[in-house]
Amino acid sequence: MKCPRTQTPLKRVTVGKVPVYYSTACGGVLLENQTLSDFENPQEKRGNVLAKHLSQFHYELDSLNKRISCPKCPDTVMLRRYYNPLHAVEIDECPGCGAIWLDTGELEKIQSLMLNEKERALLRIELMKKHERIEVKGMPHTHDNWNKRGDKVDAFFDLASYISNSL
Ligand SMILES: [Zn+2]
Repeated sequence: MKCPRTQTPLKRVTVGKVPVYYSTACGGVLLENQTLSDFENPQEKRGNVLAKHLSQFHYELDSLNKRISCPKCPDTVMLRRYYNPLHAVEIDECPGCGAIWLDTGELEKIQSLMLNEKERALLRIELMKKHERIEVKGMPHTHDNWNKRGDKVDAFFDLASYISNSL
């Protein structure tokens, strides 16, 4: 398989038994269908190892907006889509085989969107506190149903985790 940016051969490595194909010419990486989730958490060894490995091959490219074909399916143009709802990172995905191409630095961007366990716990506590304050000011009836309230906090929490990570 060839690098869709530089047309040089991709190298295959396995990271924690998961095969990935990367370009030593541009630092991009091809992840086969459904394997992005193995690498998006920087706290897990696989994600950490792959990001470090790829960072050796970090080169600035002029033409990241150019459409690319899937290295596995050369006749198929990859679709550019947003990794998360707040549009912080764009990735290329093959509509044929589901492979994902990450240009140099994109894996690290994706990883930076994730909170670790401690950060999530702290954010949750923060949001609970804020919720309490709102309740005291003008929403006297919100304390009558703990379950509903829990759902609300969860919704706030999920939204805030996106926002705090994309700024
Ligand atoms: Zn493909």
